[in-house]
Amino acid sequence: MASPGRIVVVGASLAGLRAVEELRRLGFDGTCTLVGAEPHLPYDRPPLSKGFLAGTVDVDGIALRRTDYADLDLDLRLGVRAVGLDVAGPTVHLADGSTVAADACIVATGATPRTLANPDGLTGVHTVRTLDDALALRADLAGSPRVVVVGAGFIGAETAATCRGLGLAVTMLEAAPSPMARGIGTRLGDTLGALHRDHGVDLRLGVGVAGLEGQGRVERVRLDDGSAVDADVVVVGIGVVPATDWLEGSGLTLDNGIVCDATLAAAPGVVAAGDLARWPNPAFGGTVMRLEHWTNATEMGVAAAARVLADDAAAAPFSTVPFVWSDQYDVKVQVAGHVQGDDDIEIVDGSLEERRFVALFGRAGRLTGAVAFSRPRLLMQYRRLIAEGTSFADALAAPPG
Ligand code: FAD
Ligand code: NAP
Repeated sequence: MASPGRIVVVGASLAGLRAVEELRRLGFDGTCTLVGAEPHLPYDRPPLSKGFLAGTVDVDGIALRRTDYADLDLDLRLGVRAVGLDVAGPTVHLADGSTVAADACIVATGATPRTLANPDGLTGVHTVRTLDDALALRADLAGSPRVVVVGAGFIGAETAATCRGLGLAVTMLEAAPSPMARGIGTRLGDTLGALHRDHGVDLRLGVGVAGLEGQGRVERVRLDDGSAVDADVVVVGIGVVPATDWLEGSGLTLDNGIVCDATLAAAPGVVAAGDLARWPNPAFGGTVMRLEHWTNATEMGVAAAARVLADDAAAAPFSTVPFVWSDQYDVKVQVAGHVQGDDDIEIVDGSLEERRFVALFGRAGRLTGAVAFSRPRLLMQYRRLIAEGTSFADALAAPPG
């Protein structure tokens, strides 16, 4: 892919913006087109379930780029969706009927929330992915509604915490036996569940949602066991799907994301970055991963820019130790590495009772992950040990810091 004259980046958010910034930083002086479905300049999503939803951060406060866009010299196409990709070329087809022909393409269209069936189109039912989603939810929270949160993953747990901070009555429904079980495992998930209950959330675990009911506006959530929970506002946080619908038939391999090689290349001249990229991560022996978090989208955007400018033979693999944070009440939850429910787990600093600790995760003798509650500096030190391939025994014997 060396020396392209025209590069098109599809997806004007975190991974896409970091890619175009890096292209210019690396000296690419050709035509750079950035296509985004949303009408807004790139903004940061993490505050949408936290400070922005609470009303303590405004729209200016979530801009991803604090400086002017002029120095990036972009052909910026906002408010227009890409609807197709011809890999040969490559050429991107846009919803307004125009096309963008390029020598290389970076695909960074992220992910889209899963939704609950809402056949009657009841109002008061929200997902939280975009600025417009968050504005709509924020407006709906103004009338002191009873909030029901479906799903106790990242969106659910953060939104529940923010709503409790606003003094709202919150019920959180989760099919799994503990909150954020996939992200931090059930033992730590139980600790998080206790945190939410102590802050007044009516947390109901192991419950399935049968449907939404109401007249025009949502009035209750019907559960699988036939019971119901009254609701004025429902927030649905039941995961996302990679935004690859527009790539059907493009020739790219799509399988729960865009299947890439270790360098993030999906086809000659096409590279993927961010929430939709699936690739074998050398940091974990080539385990195929797709990550849905901020740090990865940033790192991949930067790596994708280098990839499209590199000779194929000289292209470097993208290797990372995943890192995630989540702010809930006064607790900063952080996860580094590849945490799986059946890993060995040891608490090495603090205690679950204090809700200040570091938990280490090990598999096959290797330190594979670390989860911290309000231990930010230590967590980053363990992230480094994970990257260095430290054994579980060594990490337990000689904690850093
Ligand atoms: P996205 O941010 O999803 O951007 C993709 C862009 O592509 C979007 O603007 C979309 O409109 C556009 N697009 C989609 N389809 C098309 C198309 N066909 N044509 C043109 N454009 C298209 N991560 C953390 O680590 N910590 C946090 O605290 C945290 N908080 C979060 C809070 C919320 C509410 C959300 C939603 C996410 C949070 N995340 C957090 C996750 C993080 O924001 C994402 O991992 C990150 O935004 C992914 O970046 P991306 O560029 O890959 O995709
Ligand atoms: P998520 O973290 O994947 O969590 C979804 C949760 O909903 C899981 O606990 C899931 O359980 C549960 N669930 C799935 N179907 C359900 C159903 N029908 N009824 C009840 N519960 C159900 O996804 P999310 O919370 O929706 O977040 C969306 C995206 O934003 C993710 O990519 C996430 O990483 C990102 N995000 C990240 C952060 C952060 O990093 N701090 C914050 C906000 C959002 P199972 O796991 O058992 O399926």
